[in-house]
Amino acid sequence: AKRAGRGQVRVFDEEMDENVRFRRRVEGGLGEAIARGELSLVYQPIVARDTMAIAGFEALLRWETADYGRLSPTIFIPVAEESNLIHELGDWVLAEALAELKAWPDQYVSINFSPRQFRRQNFVGHVMEGVERAGVSPSRVQIEITESAIFADAERAAETLYRLRDLGFRIALDDFGTGYSSLYNIRTFALDCLKIDRSFIDGMGRERESAAIVHSIIHLGRALGLEVIGEGVETDAQAQALRIAGAAYLQGYYFSLPVPATHAREMALAGLID
Ligand code: C2E
Ligand code: CA
Ligand code: CA
Ligand code: CA
Repeated sequence: AKRAGRGQVRVFDEEMDENVRFRRRVEGGLGEAIARGELSLVYQPIVARDTMAIAGFEALLRWETADYGRLSPTIFIPVAEESNLIHELGDWVLAEALAELKAWPDQYVSINFSPRQFRRQNFVGHVMEGVERAGVSPSRVQIEITESAIFADAERAAETLYRLRDLGFRIALDDFGTGYSSLYNIRTFALDCLKIDRSFIDGMGRERESAAIVHSIIHLGRALGLEVIGEGVETDAQAQALRIAGAAYLQGYYFSLPVPATHAREMALAGLID
Protein backbone atom coordinates (compact mmCIF):
# COMPACT_ATOMS: atom_id res chain seq x y z
CA ALA A 1 0.00 0.00 0.00
CA LYS A 2 2.85 2.26 0.90
CA ARG A 3 4.37 1.66 -2.47
CA ALA A 4 1.19 2.37 -4.39
CA GLY A 5 0.81 5.55 -2.35
CA ARG A 6 4.26 6.73 -3.21
CA GLY A 7 3.72 5.83 -6.86
CA GLN A 8 0.58 7.92 -6.91
CA VAL A 9 2.37 10.86 -5.46
CA ARG A 10 4.97 10.55 -8.14
CA VAL A 11 2.40 10.41 -10.95
CA PHE A 12 0.79 13.48 -9.45
CA ASP A 13 4.16 15.25 -9.28
CA GLU A 14 4.85 14.39 -12.88
CA GLU A 15 1.51 15.80 -13.94
CA MET A 16 2.28 18.94 -11.99
CA ASP A 17 5.66 19.16 -13.67
CA GLU A 18 4.01 18.67 -17.02
CA ASN A 19 1.56 21.47 -16.26
CA VAL A 20 4.21 23.80 -15.00
CA ARG A 21 6.38 23.08 -18.02
CA PHE A 22 3.47 23.71 -20.37
CA ARG A 23 2.61 26.98 -18.65
CA ARG A 24 6.24 28.13 -18.77
CA ARG A 25 6.43 27.33 -22.46
CA VAL A 26 3.19 29.12 -23.16
CA GLU A 27 4.35 32.10 -21.14
CA GLY A 28 7.74 32.12 -22.84
CA GLY A 29 6.24 31.78 -26.30
CA LEU A 30 3.62 34.40 -25.65
CA GLY A 31 6.35 36.90 -24.82
CA GLU A 32 7.68 36.51 -28.34
CA ALA A 33 4.40 35.98 -30.15
CA ILE A 34 3.84 39.60 -31.04
CA ALA A 35 7.33 40.12 -32.44
CA ARG A 36 7.09 36.87 -34.37
CA GLY A 37 3.76 37.88 -35.91
CA GLU A 38 1.99 34.83 -34.50
CA LEU A 39 -1.06 36.72 -33.25
CA SER A 40 -4.08 37.67 -35.27
CA LEU A 41 -7.64 38.77 -34.71
CA VAL A 42 -10.76 37.21 -36.14
CA TYR A 43 -14.08 39.02 -36.16
CA GLN A 44 -17.57 37.68 -35.54
CA PRO A 45 -20.59 39.72 -36.64
CA ILE A 46 -23.28 40.81 -34.20
CA VAL A 47 -26.53 40.90 -36.13
CA ALA A 48 -29.69 42.97 -35.63
CA ARG A 49 -32.63 40.60 -35.23
CA ASP A 50 -35.11 42.53 -37.36
CA THR A 51 -33.01 43.62 -40.32
CA MET A 52 -30.08 41.17 -40.33
CA ALA A 53 -27.85 44.25 -40.49
CA ILE A 54 -24.41 43.83 -38.97
CA ALA A 55 -24.29 46.17 -36.00
CA GLY A 56 -20.73 45.34 -35.02
CA PHE A 57 -18.06 42.69 -34.83
CA GLU A 58 -16.49 41.06 -31.78
CA ALA A 59 -12.69 40.84 -32.08
CA LEU A 60 -11.30 37.47 -30.93
CA LEU A 61 -7.63 36.74 -30.48
CA ARG A 62 -5.87 33.87 -32.24
CA TRP A 63 -2.36 32.57 -31.63
CA GLU A 64 -0.61 30.27 -34.09
CA THR A 65 2.22 28.71 -32.04
CA ALA A 66 5.25 26.96 -33.43
CA ASP A 67 5.09 24.19 -30.80
CA TYR A 68 1.40 23.48 -30.30
CA GLY A 69 -0.28 24.77 -33.45
CA ARG A 70 -3.26 27.03 -32.88
CA LEU A 71 -3.84 27.47 -29.14
CA SER A 72 -7.23 28.50 -27.83
CA PRO A 73 -7.49 31.85 -26.03
CA THR A 74 -9.23 29.97 -23.21
CA ILE A 75 -5.81 28.39 -22.59
CA PHE A 76 -3.38 31.24 -23.18
CA ILE A 77 -5.41 34.23 -21.91
CA PRO A 78 -5.43 32.85 -18.33
CA VAL A 79 -1.66 32.29 -18.55
CA ALA A 80 -1.17 35.85 -19.77
CA GLU A 81 -3.55 37.04 -17.06
CA GLU A 82 -1.26 35.59 -14.39
CA SER A 83 1.75 37.47 -15.72
CA ASN A 84 2.10 41.02 -16.95
CA LEU A 85 1.89 39.75 -20.51
CA ILE A 86 -1.83 40.39 -20.54
CA HIS A 87 -1.16 44.12 -20.86
CA GLU A 88 1.21 43.73 -23.77
CA LEU A 89 -1.26 41.39 -25.44
CA GLY A 90 -4.16 43.72 -24.74
CA ASP A 91 -2.30 46.68 -26.19
CA TRP A 92 -1.70 44.75 -29.37
CA VAL A 93 -5.37 43.68 -29.60
CA LEU A 94 -6.59 47.23 -29.03
CA ALA A 95 -4.32 48.79 -31.66
CA GLU A 96 -5.03 46.05 -34.19
CA ALA A 97 -8.82 46.11 -33.73
CA LEU A 98 -9.02 49.91 -33.90
CA ALA A 99 -6.95 49.99 -37.09
CA GLU A 100 -9.28 47.43 -38.63
CA LEU A 101 -12.38 49.34 -37.54
CA LYS A 102 -11.46 52.15 -39.92
CA ALA A 103 -12.11 49.90 -42.91
CA TRP A 104 -15.76 49.38 -41.92
CA PRO A 105 -18.47 51.87 -42.90
CA ASP A 106 -20.36 52.19 -39.61
CA GLN A 107 -20.13 49.06 -37.48
CA TYR A 108 -18.61 49.05 -34.02
CA VAL A 109 -15.85 46.77 -32.81
CA SER A 110 -16.38 44.90 -29.56
CA ILE A 111 -13.16 44.20 -27.68
CA ASN A 112 -12.68 41.79 -24.76
CA PHE A 113 -10.85 43.00 -21.67
CA SER A 114 -9.93 40.60 -18.89
CA PRO A 115 -10.46 41.61 -15.26
CA ARG A 116 -6.81 42.48 -14.83
CA GLN A 117 -6.79 44.68 -17.89
CA PHE A 118 -9.89 46.48 -16.66
CA ARG A 119 -8.42 47.03 -13.21
CA ARG A 120 -5.12 48.31 -14.59
CA GLN A 121 -3.95 51.73 -13.42
CA ASN A 122 -5.39 54.38 -15.71
CA PHE A 123 -7.32 51.92 -17.85
CA VAL A 124 -9.55 54.72 -19.13
CA GLY A 125 -6.64 56.92 -20.20
CA HIS A 126 -5.07 53.94 -21.83
CA VAL A 127 -8.05 53.01 -23.98
CA MET A 128 -8.66 56.67 -24.81
CA GLU A 129 -5.09 57.04 -25.95
CA GLY A 130 -5.50 54.05 -28.27
CA VAL A 131 -8.65 55.52 -29.75
CA GLU A 132 -7.02 58.91 -30.27
CA ARG A 133 -3.96 57.40 -31.84
CA ALA A 134 -6.12 55.38 -34.23
CA GLY A 135 -8.33 58.36 -34.96
CA VAL A 136 -11.66 56.61 -34.37
CA SER A 137 -14.70 57.61 -32.37
CA PRO A 138 -15.23 55.96 -28.95
CA SER A 139 -18.87 55.50 -29.98
CA ARG A 140 -17.70 52.80 -32.37
CA VAL A 141 -15.84 50.91 -29.66
CA GLN A 142 -17.58 48.50 -27.34
CA ILE A 143 -15.72 47.38 -24.25
CA GLU A 144 -16.62 43.84 -23.17
CA ILE A 145 -15.99 42.97 -19.56
CA THR A 146 -17.29 40.18 -17.35
CA GLU A 147 -19.06 40.41 -14.05
CA SER A 148 -15.93 39.28 -12.23
CA ALA A 149 -14.12 42.39 -13.50
CA ILE A 150 -16.58 44.69 -11.79
CA PHE A 151 -17.65 42.94 -8.62
CA ALA A 152 -14.23 42.52 -7.05
CA ASP A 153 -14.13 46.27 -6.44
CA ALA A 154 -17.56 47.50 -7.38
CA GLU A 155 -17.06 51.08 -6.33
CA ARG A 156 -13.95 51.63 -8.39
CA ALA A 157 -15.42 49.71 -11.33
CA ALA A 158 -18.55 51.86 -11.25
CA GLU A 159 -16.42 54.98 -11.53
CA THR A 160 -14.33 53.54 -14.37
CA LEU A 161 -17.49 52.63 -16.27
CA TYR A 162 -19.01 56.08 -15.83
CA ARG A 163 -15.85 57.70 -17.11
CA LEU A 164 -15.77 55.41 -20.14
CA ARG A 165 -19.39 56.08 -20.89
CA ASP A 166 -18.84 59.84 -20.54
CA LEU A 167 -16.16 59.57 -23.19
CA GLY A 168 -18.68 57.86 -25.47
CA PHE A 169 -17.57 54.23 -25.30
CA ARG A 170 -20.14 51.45 -25.35
CA ILE A 171 -19.98 49.02 -22.45
CA ALA A 172 -21.12 45.41 -22.65
CA LEU A 173 -21.35 42.91 -19.81
CA ASP A 174 -20.12 39.62 -21.26
CA ASP A 175 -21.19 36.08 -20.29
CA PHE A 176 -24.10 37.62 -18.43
CA GLY A 177 -25.90 35.32 -16.02
CA THR A 178 -22.88 33.23 -15.10
CA GLY A 179 -21.32 35.60 -12.56
CA TYR A 180 -22.20 37.14 -9.25
CA SER A 181 -24.29 40.10 -10.21
CA SER A 182 -27.72 40.27 -8.76
CA LEU A 183 -30.23 41.82 -11.09
CA TYR A 184 -30.48 44.63 -8.58
CA ASN A 185 -26.79 45.48 -8.77
CA ILE A 186 -26.75 45.84 -12.50
CA ARG A 187 -28.60 49.15 -12.29
CA THR A 188 -25.72 50.88 -10.58
CA PHE A 189 -23.29 50.44 -13.46
CA ALA A 190 -23.08 52.47 -16.64
CA LEU A 191 -23.81 49.71 -19.14
CA ASP A 192 -25.13 49.71 -22.69
CA CYS A 193 -25.44 46.05 -23.38
CA LEU A 194 -25.88 42.61 -21.82
CA LYS A 195 -24.53 39.57 -23.62
CA ILE A 196 -26.50 36.49 -22.60
CA ASP A 197 -24.04 33.68 -21.97
CA ARG A 198 -23.96 30.93 -24.54
CA SER A 199 -24.73 28.22 -21.95
CA PHE A 200 -28.29 29.56 -21.52
CA ILE A 201 -28.86 29.78 -25.28
CA ASP A 202 -27.59 26.24 -25.56
CA GLY A 203 -29.91 25.00 -22.83
CA MET A 204 -32.97 26.90 -24.02
CA GLY A 205 -34.46 24.11 -26.10
CA ARG A 206 -33.83 21.47 -23.43
CA GLU A 207 -34.40 22.96 -20.00
CA ARG A 208 -37.13 25.24 -18.77
CA GLU A 209 -34.61 26.91 -16.42
CA SER A 210 -32.41 28.15 -19.26
CA ALA A 211 -35.36 29.45 -21.23
CA ALA A 212 -36.61 31.22 -18.11
CA ILE A 213 -33.21 32.83 -17.52
CA VAL A 214 -32.99 33.99 -21.14
CA HIS A 215 -36.44 35.54 -20.86
CA SER A 216 -35.66 37.31 -17.61
CA ILE A 217 -32.39 38.74 -18.93
CA ILE A 218 -34.20 40.10 -21.98
CA HIS A 219 -36.90 41.66 -19.80
CA LEU A 220 -34.33 43.09 -17.43
CA GLY A 221 -32.41 44.55 -20.33
CA ARG A 222 -35.53 46.16 -21.71
CA ALA A 223 -36.54 47.55 -18.33
CA LEU A 224 -33.10 49.13 -17.88
CA GLY A 225 -32.87 50.38 -21.46
CA LEU A 226 -30.00 48.07 -22.35
CA GLU A 227 -29.33 46.30 -25.60
CA VAL A 228 -29.33 42.52 -25.32
CA ILE A 229 -27.17 40.24 -27.44
CA GLY A 230 -27.81 36.50 -27.49
CA GLU A 231 -24.45 34.84 -28.08
CA GLY A 232 -23.49 31.37 -29.21
CA VAL A 233 -26.51 30.98 -31.51
CA GLU A 234 -25.88 27.79 -33.44
CA THR A 235 -29.26 26.73 -34.82
CA ASP A 236 -32.26 28.16 -36.57
CA ALA A 237 -34.41 27.02 -33.63
CA GLN A 238 -32.27 29.02 -31.19
CA ALA A 239 -32.37 32.09 -33.43
CA GLN A 240 -36.17 31.86 -33.67
CA ALA A 241 -36.59 31.34 -29.92
CA LEU A 242 -34.41 34.37 -29.19
CA ARG A 243 -36.26 36.49 -31.72
CA ILE A 244 -39.56 35.57 -30.13
CA ALA A 245 -38.18 36.21 -26.66
CA GLY A 246 -37.18 39.67 -27.86
CA ALA A 247 -33.37 39.70 -28.05
CA ALA A 248 -32.58 42.54 -30.44
CA TYR A 249 -29.11 41.29 -31.39
CA LEU A 250 -27.78 37.84 -32.15
CA GLN A 251 -24.32 36.36 -32.53
CA GLY A 252 -23.09 32.84 -33.21
CA TYR A 253 -21.96 30.21 -35.67
CA TYR A 254 -25.49 30.10 -37.14
CA PHE A 255 -24.89 33.58 -38.60
CA SER A 256 -21.15 33.44 -39.08
CA LEU A 257 -18.01 31.95 -37.63
CA PRO A 258 -15.39 34.44 -36.48
CA VAL A 259 -13.61 35.33 -39.75
CA PRO A 260 -10.26 36.88 -40.70
CA ALA A 261 -10.05 40.65 -41.19
CA THR A 262 -10.24 40.56 -44.99
CA HIS A 263 -13.48 38.58 -44.87
CA ALA A 264 -14.96 40.75 -42.11
CA ARG A 265 -14.24 43.78 -44.24
CA GLU A 266 -16.32 42.38 -47.10
CA MET A 267 -19.13 41.58 -44.71
CA ALA A 268 -18.97 45.08 -43.20
CA LEU A 269 -19.21 46.67 -46.63
CA ALA A 270 -22.14 44.43 -47.61
CA GLY A 271 -23.70 45.44 -44.28
CA LEU A 272 -26.03 42.46 -44.00
CA ILE A 273 -25.94 38.77 -43.29
CA ASP A 274 -27.95 36.94 -45.94
P1 C2E B 1 -16.02 35.15 -25.13
O1 C2E B 1 -15.67 36.59 -25.01
O2 C2E B 1 -17.22 34.70 -24.42
O3 C2E B 1 -16.11 34.89 -26.69
C1 C2E B 1 -17.05 34.05 -27.31
C2 C2E B 1 -16.46 32.72 -27.66
O4 C2E B 1 -17.48 31.88 -28.21
C3 C2E B 1 -15.37 32.79 -28.73
O5 C2E B 1 -14.43 31.76 -28.44
C4 C2E B 1 -16.15 32.48 -30.00
O6 C2E B 1 -15.34 32.00 -31.05
C5 C2E B 1 -17.10 31.43 -29.50
N1 C2E B 1 -18.34 31.33 -30.27
C6 C2E B 1 -18.93 32.25 -31.07
N2 C2E B 1 -20.08 31.78 -31.58
C7 C2E B 1 -20.22 30.52 -31.11
C8 C2E B 1 -21.23 29.50 -31.28
O7 C2E B 1 -22.22 29.66 -31.98
N3 C2E B 1 -21.04 28.33 -30.61
C9 C2E B 1 -19.94 28.11 -29.82
N4 C2E B 1 -19.82 26.92 -29.24
N5 C2E B 1 -18.98 29.05 -29.64
C10 C2E B 1 -19.13 30.24 -30.26
P2 C2E B 1 -12.87 32.03 -28.53
O8 C2E B 1 -12.58 32.90 -29.71
O9 C2E B 1 -12.21 30.71 -28.42
O10 C2E B 1 -12.57 32.89 -27.24
C11 C2E B 1 -12.70 32.33 -25.97
C12 C2E B 1 -12.57 33.37 -24.88
O11 C2E B 1 -11.24 33.91 -24.86
C13 C2E B 1 -13.49 34.57 -25.08
O12 C2E B 1 -14.77 34.24 -24.65
C14 C2E B 1 -12.79 35.60 -24.23
O13 C2E B 1 -13.11 35.43 -22.88
C15 C2E B 1 -11.32 35.25 -24.43
N6 C2E B 1 -10.74 36.13 -25.46
C16 C2E B 1 -10.73 36.01 -26.80
N7 C2E B 1 -10.08 37.04 -27.40
C17 C2E B 1 -9.68 37.86 -26.40
C18 C2E B 1 -8.96 39.12 -26.34
O14 C2E B 1 -8.60 39.72 -27.36
N8 C2E B 1 -8.72 39.62 -25.10
C19 C2E B 1 -9.14 39.02 -23.95
N9 C2E B 1 -8.86 39.59 -22.77
N10 C2E B 1 -9.83 37.86 -23.96
C20 C2E B 1 -10.10 37.29 -25.17
CA1 CA C 1 -16.74 38.40 -25.36
CA1 CA D 1 -19.18 35.75 -24.02
CA1 CA E 1 -16.30 33.81 -21.86
